[in-house]
Amino acid sequence: MKRARTGVAPEQYPPPFANRDVVGAPASAPGDRIDVGVLIVGAGPGGLACAIRLGQLLEQHPQVAERLGDVPVAVVEKGKAAGSHLLSGAVVDPRALRRLFKDRLHMEDIPSYGQVHGEAVYLLTARGGWRIPPPPTMRNHGNWIVSVSQLGRFLAEQAESGGTAILPETTAERLLVQHGRVVGVRTGDKGRGREGQALANFEPGTDVLAKVTVLAEGTQGHLTAAAIDHFRLHGQNPQVWALGVKEVWKVPRPLRKVIHTMGWPLRKAAKYGEFGGSFVYPMGEDMVSLGFVVGLEYRDVELSAHDLLQEFKTHPRILKILAGGERIAWGAKTITEGGLLSLPSRLNAPGLVLVGEGAGLVNVPRLKGIHYAVESGLLAAEAIFATLQPGETPTRVGALDRYDEALRSSYVWPDLREVRNMRQVFDRGFFVGGALASAMTVSRGHLPPKDYPTHPNAGATLIRTGRAGSYPPADGRLTFDKLSSVFASGNRTRDDQPNHLRIRTRVPRDLAETWAWMCPAQVYEVGPPDGDGTVSVRMTPSNCVQCGAISAKGGRLTPPEGGSGPEYSLT
Ligand SMILES: Cc1cc2nc3c(=O)[nH]c(=O)nc-3n(C[C@H](O)[C@H](O)[C@H](O)COP(=O)(O)OP(=O)(O)OC[C@H]3O[C@@H](n4cnc5c(N)ncnc54)[C@H](O)[C@@H]3O)c2cc1C
Ligand code: SF4
Repeated sequence: MKRARTGVAPEQYPPPFANRDVVGAPASAPGDRIDVGVLIVGAGPGGLACAIRLGQLLEQHPQVAERLGDVPVAVVEKGKAAGSHLLSGAVVDPRALRRLFKDRLHMEDIPSYGQVHGEAVYLLTARGGWRIPPPPTMRNHGNWIVSVSQLGRFLAEQAESGGTAILPETTAERLLVQHGRVVGVRTGDKGRGREGQALANFEPGTDVLAKVTVLAEGTQGHLTAAAIDHFRLHGQNPQVWALGVKEVWKVPRPLRKVIHTMGWPLRKAAKYGEFGGSFVYPMGEDMVSLGFVVGLEYRDVELSAHDLLQEFKTHPRILKILAGGERIAWGAKTITEGGLLSLPSRLNAPGLVLVGEGAGLVNVPRLKGIHYAVESGLLAAEAIFATLQPGETPTRVGALDRYDEALRSSYVWPDLREVRNMRQVFDRGFFVGGALASAMTVSRGHLPPKDYPTHPNAGATLIRTGRAGSYPPADGRLTFDKLSSVFASGNRTRDDQPNHLRIRTRVPRDLAETWAWMCPAQVYEVGPPDGDGTVSVRMTPSNCVQCGAISAKGGRLTPPEGGSGPEYSLT
C-alpha cells in the first residue's frame, strides 16, 4: 500500500483533562485525615529505596523518628501489592543497590537471576541479520538480571522491616497544596459504580498529610505531571515516551546471554518515525524474558507494539530460543525517554521531591532506569532527613534544593549528559541517527556540540501504509492476541468501575484507529461514523494495564480505583 498522509495529529484532539483539577487544598475534617511524617507515592525501586534509606537514618536518630509521629514513613501504592504494577527488562546496574544496602546486604542476597555472562547485539532483517559488536551502551558485564516485580516485593519487605507502613491498593489522586507548599495527597475513592454512584462497599478517599511528599510514580506520573505544571517546573524539552510490551517464557533450554536487537520489524526511514528494538534476557535455567520497545513518536496508524512483539517472535533466531516453550506472563508499560534535556527544571518544590522515572531519570541508550530510581530515592531520603533537623523545615522555599544538588553531583548527571542527544538524533532515521550516535559515544557526548530538541509524541502527523498486513495471526502457542494477553497480565479489574481514561470520544477515524492499534490491552474500538467526519470511540476501561501510552498519544490515563489493573509477579 502506498504511504498516505492523513493530516491528523493526536495533539489536535486534547483530552478533557486539566492538571489543575487534581491540585487543591486539603478537604477532610481534622478527625478524618491521616497524618504521617514522610509520604511516598509509588512502591517502585525509587520510592522504596527512599523509604529504606529513611528507615536506616531514623533508626540511627530515634529522636527525629519520634518527631515524625506514629507513622514516620508511609508508601501508597495503587497496585494490589508492591510489585503488581512493576514491569521492566530487567538488567540492573548494581551500583545504587550496593550503595543503598552497603554492608547490610549483598547483591547475592537480593532476588535475581544472576550476573550477565555474555551478550550479543543483532541488526535484524526479516529472515536473518548480522551480529554486530555491542556499542558501549549495550555492554552489560557486571550487571544483574532481575524481575523488577520480584525486586519490588523484596524492597517492600526491607522497607517494612525498617519501619515503613506500606498501603497497597491506594491511589494518590490529588496533590494537596496549601500556601504554596505541598502538604500531602488525597487518596482515591473505592467502591463506585460506572456512573460514579456509591456502591454498597463505598469507601471515600482520605487526605494523607505529611511534612514531605515524595512522588515516585514512575512513567507517566499522574501527580508528577500536575506538580510540574503547578510549580512551573517544565524542562528545556518536552518529555517523550516509548511503549514496551514484554513476555516471560518457560523454555526447555537455558539462554546463556543477554540479547538486544535493532532493525526489523521496525522500518529504518525517518518518514516512519520508528525507533526502538528488542531485548531477550535469560531468567535462570528455564525462563527468558523478551520484549519489544517502540518510541511513541511513530506515525503509522496501524503500528501496534503488541503485534510487533508477536512478529518479532517469528524471526528464526528468536524462534530457536522459544521452541518447545510456553508463555507464562505478559505485560506492557511505557518508558520515559526524553533524557537530560527533558528533565524538570527542578526536582523539588516546598514540601515535595520528584524521584526516579517519574522525574525522567532514565538512560535510554542503555535501557536502564532502575539504578537511577534507587540512587535518586536514596539521595532524596538523605536530603529530606537533613530538612527534618531542628531549625530547618522541608516546606521552606529552597530547603530541598540540597536534593537537586546531590543528584547533580552524583554519577547520574554526567551519565545523562553524555547521552543527552542520543534519542533525538534517531528522528533522522536509523542510519543518520546511528552515525551521529556513534560520534557521541566516541566523544563521550561532546560531539555534535549542541543540544537537540525533542518533539511531543502527540504532535506526529499520522500516515497509513497498510502496516498491519504483516502482523502474524495469533496461534495461541507462539503468537497471542491482545485479550488473552491481558488475561496473562493477571488483570482482574471489575467491569463496572468508573472510566479512568480521558479521551475525546468523537475523533477522526485515523485517530480512533491509532488508539485501537496502539493500546496493547484492546481498550479502544472504533465505533460508527457520527455523520460529521468523525467516529465514536468505544472503550473497555477494565482491560487497561495502565501502560501510559494513551497519555503520550492524545489522551490521559488517570489512576483507577486502587487495587485494579495488572497483577504482575514475574515481569
Ligand atoms: C519494557 C521495559 C524494559 C526496561 N528495561 C530495563 C532494564 O533492563 N534495566 C533497567 O534498569 N531499567 C529498565 N527499564 C526502566 C525501569 O523499569 C524503570 O526506569 C524503573 O522501574 C523506574 O522505577 P521507579 O520507581 O521510578 O518507577 P516504577 O518502577 O514505575 O514504580 C512506580 C510505582 O508507583 C506506583 N504509582 C504510580 N502512580 C501512583 C499513584 N498516583 N498512586 C499510587 N501509586 C502510584 C506504580 O503502581 C508503581 O508501582 C525498563 C522499562 C520498561 C518499560
Ligand atoms: S488504555 Fe491503558 S493499556 Fe491501553 S494504551 Fe491506555 S494506558 Fe495503555
